[in-house]
Amino acid sequence: MVQLTPVQLAWLQEIGMDRRQLQPYARRAEDVSAAAPAVSAQGPQARRASAEGLRPAAELLAGQSAAAGAARPDPASGAARPPAAAPAARKLAKAPAGVGSSGPLPLDWQALQDHVAACEACSLHTGRSQTVFGSGATEAVDWMIIGEAPGDRDDRLGQPFQGKAGELLGAMLRAAGVGPETPVFYTNLIKCRPRGNRTPKPEEIAACRPYLQRQIAMLKPRRILALGWLAAQALLSESSDLEQLRGQVHWLQAEDGQRIPVVATYHPASLLSRTRHKANAWRDLNLARSV
Ligand code: SF4
Repeated sequence: MVQLTPVQLAWLQEIGMDRRQLQPYARRAEDVSAAAPAVSAQGPQARRASAEGLRPAAELLAGQSAAAGAARPDPASGAARPPAAAPAARKLAKAPAGVGSSGPLPLDWQALQDHVAACEACSLHTGRSQTVFGSGATEAVDWMIIGEAPGDRDDRLGQPFQGKAGELLGAMLRAAGVGPETPVFYTNLIKCRPRGNRTPKPEEIAACRPYLQRQIAMLKPRRILALGWLAAQALLSESSDLEQLRGQVHWLQAEDGQRIPVVATYHPASLLSRTRHKANAWRDLNLARSV
């Protein structure tokens, strides 16, 4: 049986894994409780966890999570491959004619960001303090993490995933071995905050879609993690609910034809109130990591 270090156990506890589930994998049962209080999201333990690497834990749980239809590594090359009966890669649906941003978009990253900052293609521009284009690595992007819409804090700071939901997401990623050194880009389906944190309307998502589409084509991420039912449905052009979409690998065809694996999971904001989903979110994260 795989043995987990106290630091690994502490991270898994921090993201909500049940202590009783972890105990069989502890070197000593008391390691679980001994390690937990020492962990801080930003502290030296976090960096140590990253430095030690958490692959054994991830592999252990990824093995439990592989759902029917999920991509599995090619035993010969170790590379991810789509399942034999994988559906064709989905294209990110285009905005209907006359809706949202139109005309050619810039091919330069900064120019695209400037273009979005000046966008008035949907009514959300009237309620924003600033656009939230996204943040993180733009070279050799390993993970592209796509949420739904900026919140109030994101709107104020101009950065996605601020606040407690972002802290939880960071803790989960670090627990899965996605540390500060990993090239990750964070963004949302739409770039302006809907007032009152309401759910974005279909026409707003459609209007903003070309920007996300261009971001994906320019970044060419190795994998995409879609957070929340809205991001999952919009990215995959599916109307199925999140429970049907998560737990498997989907394939998205970018503007340039590149096939990108997509895993859908819960939005960290929903995990804050529905902690029972954290174990499934952890499995999804490890599934994404395995492709
Ligand atoms: Fe433009 Fe997107 Fe903001 Fe709407 S949400 S105004 S399409 S940047």
